[in-house]
Amino acid sequence: MPNPTLHITRFAPSPTGQLHLGHAFSALLAAEVAAAVGGSFRLRIEDIDATRCRPEHEAGLRDDLAWLGLVWPEPVRRQSEHMADYAKALARLDSLGLVYPCFCTRADIAAEVAASPSAPHGPDGPLYPGTCRHLSPAEATARQARGAPFALRLHMEAALAQAGGDLVWTDVFAGTVAAEPARFGDVVLARKETPTSYHLSVVHDDALEGVSLIIRGRDLFEATHVHRLLQALLGLPVPLYAHHDLLCGPDGRRLAKRDRAETLASLRAGGISPGDLRARLEPAFSSALEGILSALAVAQS
Ligand code: GLU
Repeated sequence: MPNPTLHITRFAPSPTGQLHLGHAFSALLAAEVAAAVGGSFRLRIEDIDATRCRPEHEAGLRDDLAWLGLVWPEPVRRQSEHMADYAKALARLDSLGLVYPCFCTRADIAAEVAASPSAPHGPDGPLYPGTCRHLSPAEATARQARGAPFALRLHMEAALAQAGGDLVWTDVFAGTVAAEPARFGDVVLARKETPTSYHLSVVHDDALEGVSLIIRGRDLFEATHVHRLLQALLGLPVPLYAHHDLLCGPDGRRLAKRDRAETLASLRAGGISPGDLRARLEPAFSSALEGILSALAVAQS
């Protein structure tokens, strides 16, 4: 087991586009925190979505990160090469009776939600109405035997009953957070076209790689409610979290991969130096770094 006081941090991009300033912020923060506490920083490639991930984006992001001055141990974990691991984690949840096949198309779900004006909404939109949760095992098996494509969903109510007790996690910036995974409903754990999901693989891999401090953008804060539940169900350690504020562009909107102007590639092409780029992240960067380091100092003293 890694020594928790040394903290392993990571940057885990999906190679679906070019990195932008916000990614540089996260990656540098994770690396600098690890360096400051004598821990280590890892890179992981989250490329489970074969339709959106591209080798040229992976090459580009590695090049950008190296240009920023980051170093990480090789080989890095590339999730697409480890589908068997995620299948095992799913099989474990299945053996606990917590997973069911869902044959619904997006259109089916949209129609069902539209037909029920009071359909509850979660952080990701309307909750899955539970249509396939009510299929008899015989019907589900028959549909699978006919070759109907299906996703696998977590039976949230059963999962909560099994996880038992009140689940909490600690965020350096938000403090102790009560996990409320029920707000997500029966989340998808394996997609029709991809035999895993972001939630399942990220939780599995952070535990496998001994990541003890997860530094990532505030946009992933809500997902942590689901991650905490999966950790409980799979018997995985619970890391410390630091969800930092997101950088905004000149228009005040948060940066996204679609914002070409702020990609590292375009900034580099414009002649920026790594030092200039680092300066552009201030003062938010130093404030986040100090916030994390002082929280760690308190946690250890
Ligand atoms: N792969 C995710 C993304 O690129 C980030 C995963 C994480 O940091 O948990 O948005």
